[in-house]
Amino acid sequence: MFENLKIGILGGGQLGAMLLRYAIDFGLDVAVMDKSTYSPCARYSASFTCGDPMSFDDVVRFGKELDIVTIEKEAVNIDGLRRLRDMGVKVYPSPETLEIIQDKYVQKEFLKEHNIPVAMGWLVADRQELMSHADKLPVVLKKCTQGYDGKGVLMLRTVEDLSTAFDEPCVLEEIVDVKQEISVIVSRNESGVIECYDPVLMIFDKQRMLLDFQICPAGLDEETAIRVCSLATRVAEAVDLTGIMAVEMFIAGNGKIYVNELAPRPHNSGHHTIEAAKTSQFEQQLRVILGLPMGSAQTVSASVMMNILEPAAHRKHAITEALKTILCTNDVHLHWYGKKGGMEGRKMGHITITDIQREEAISKSVIIKHLLKESYA
Ligand code: ADP
Repeated sequence: MFENLKIGILGGGQLGAMLLRYAIDFGLDVAVMDKSTYSPCARYSASFTCGDPMSFDDVVRFGKELDIVTIEKEAVNIDGLRRLRDMGVKVYPSPETLEIIQDKYVQKEFLKEHNIPVAMGWLVADRQELMSHADKLPVVLKKCTQGYDGKGVLMLRTVEDLSTAFDEPCVLEEIVDVKQEISVIVSRNESGVIECYDPVLMIFDKQRMLLDFQICPAGLDEETAIRVCSLATRVAEAVDLTGIMAVEMFIAGNGKIYVNELAPRPHNSGHHTIEAAKTSQFEQQLRVILGLPMGSAQTVSASVMMNILEPAAHRKHAITEALKTILCTNDVHLHWYGKKGGMEGRKMGHITITDIQREEAISKSVIIKHLLKESYA
């Protein structure tokens, strides 16, 4: 069916590797480009290219013989993608969608213009300009580009914090009284048809800015669930999405919903869709870019997802032993990314726990978290 179709993914991380897994089901020939020959995809793609997705030349060189190019990370060269599209290569998501999303300030302004609620924010060019905003403290500071997993985000409370903050273009943002952090995965095809997955509740360890649990269904009341899904749908339409996108949101103490961040690609907040939805986010992305009918985004079981981080070298054995115990529990699914020699704290895999009953999935996850914590100690 697709024997003569050549598809390429920019980025070779774990999300790309999960996409490859579904590409096998469709009999696809998929090329991957990543900077690192140690990236997870390098092991699984017969046509792996070492190159920088942020480099115009590398993107064009990689994509020019392909029919379709897609992404597993948004840090890619947009002009390179435009050139490929001019050469007849199909590019998903479009360079225009990516351009809105790559820079947090551009993204915020775009959403504001489209009447999508966002936290108030100001663009600051550097640390010197930041110092003139002391009257706004406390605030959140976010690097405009290249931030991920909270690494480009700082909570600033004092003037002293300002003087040691990032010295580059950033968005200064009002602090939202966040009651819940939610993500909605949404897919949209070329004809504008939308499938929206059930909202996911993300629970963070605030001290370390790390995700503790991700729970689906999120446990929202029906009205709020409808509001967040319709917001995600509006965002997908506003950015003219073709593909899949995570829409991260805050629900504030007063019930107001803010869109925090967009990621127009498969996302870690959609990991659970592998086991817990009728169509995984990865299959959905492939269906969209291949022009196939989209699959149902319906939830088939409750789930809790948690990341497994690289432990200190002397605790590796303890983690392996803990995982053996954890896998004795019913409906626990391990995804190990096969990363070589990760730094301590790096995401090495994840576990998805499913159950018909949401409370049961949560209870199992609390025990599993405890076992993991003990083995890191
Ligand atoms: P990243 O892209 O690195 O994940 P986010 O914008 O998601 O960055 O911010 C990381 C975390 O910081 C969020 O999950 C949230 O807990 C907190 N945060 C971000 N912006 C705000 C805000 N305006 N008010 C309160 N907390 C925030």
